[in-house]
Amino acid sequence: MEYLSPTTVEEASELLAARPDAEVFAGATDVIPQLRAGRAEPGALVDLKGIERLVSVSADDAGWTIGAATPTADLTGNAQLSAEFPGLVEAAGLIGSDQIQNRSSLGGNLCNASPAADSVPAMVVNDMRAVVAGPDGTRTIPVVDVTTGPGSTSLGPGEFVVEFQLDHRPARTGDAYLRLIPRTEMDIAVVGAGARLSFDEAGVCTSAAVALGAVAPTVVRVSDAESALVGTAASDILGNGDAMAAVAAAATAACNPIDDKRGTVAYRRQVAGVLARRAVTAATERALATNGAATDGAAANGVS
Ligand SMILES: Cc1cc2nc3c(=O)[nH]c(=O)nc-3n(C[C@H](O)[C@H](O)[C@H](O)COP(=O)(O)OP(=O)(O)OC[C@H]3O[C@@H](n4cnc5c(N)ncnc54)[C@H](O)[C@@H]3O)c2cc1C
Repeated sequence: MEYLSPTTVEEASELLAARPDAEVFAGATDVIPQLRAGRAEPGALVDLKGIERLVSVSADDAGWTIGAATPTADLTGNAQLSAEFPGLVEAAGLIGSDQIQNRSSLGGNLCNASPAADSVPAMVVNDMRAVVAGPDGTRTIPVVDVTTGPGSTSLGPGEFVVEFQLDHRPARTGDAYLRLIPRTEMDIAVVGAGARLSFDEAGVCTSAAVALGAVAPTVVRVSDAESALVGTAASDILGNGDAMAAVAAAATAACNPIDDKRGTVAYRRQVAGVLARRAVTAATERALATNGAATDGAAANGVS
């Protein structure tokens, strides 16, 4: 097995086009355990971390660009990103341990295509897009369209994720991600729930996104929960009114989980309802704590 270390996106694309037996990696925190567990070795491993663009995080007037191979420790250590998107950063910060986070990336978390990947529900509720490079140039697709099932993605031969795009959050918008694990850390989610809500000046919800992880082959958008929230006053959401009962019921109904040692189908369904409600509550509290839009990547208005 060869080790290849390109320094540009173009060089990586050429290498992958010339070597159909090659596989990309970023942190290798999934790849190495899988190879040690006996998965077939690729002919070559292409290290994406030598490409500056893939390990960079930047913000401009439009939003954030997060290199797909950036260590998640660089995200949790980024005060501006953490202030604007606390839910996304929380999700990234739940991956493994400090040691893992010095290597693990959002690109690897997404493209490993585990149903339980923590960052994916948080990326999906924030409408993140993946810039994909391949033999035919680059294309930009919603993150939600990358994973197609456990261990499989929509990426074609020779394609890899270069970076993620994330628009600045509008005024009065908050996000959150919560998961349940059997231990206090270093475990895989039984259920993960991401939420993002926006409110108008009167405190009425104008948009809502709710997504669940670990309860189906890919992340599940809970559209019935989202429609129950839009038009609802923040006070009703925080007071656990009818809309929140609808959120819990919709999350439970949206699950298509498996039975395994971490939880039964019935348990996962129930936990999905509870976590979806809690994530919506946290996102609402955060949205209300922000005064305005974050348009320059530097605005962080009181988000805790
Ligand atoms: C001890 C331990 C604890 C862990 N805990 C968690 C946890 O709590 N939550 C969680 O979600 N995960 C956890 N993981 C799994 C893993 O750390 C994450 O999935 C991590 O984000 C993978 O990132 P990586 O850069 O290391 O991926 P890699 O191992 O480098 O790659 C993973 C897969 O993605 C592909 N890939 C990588 N980058 C790209 C790209 N840019 N474009 C296309 N394909 C790409 C690779 O070919 C490979 O198939 C844990 C792993 C370990 C070893």
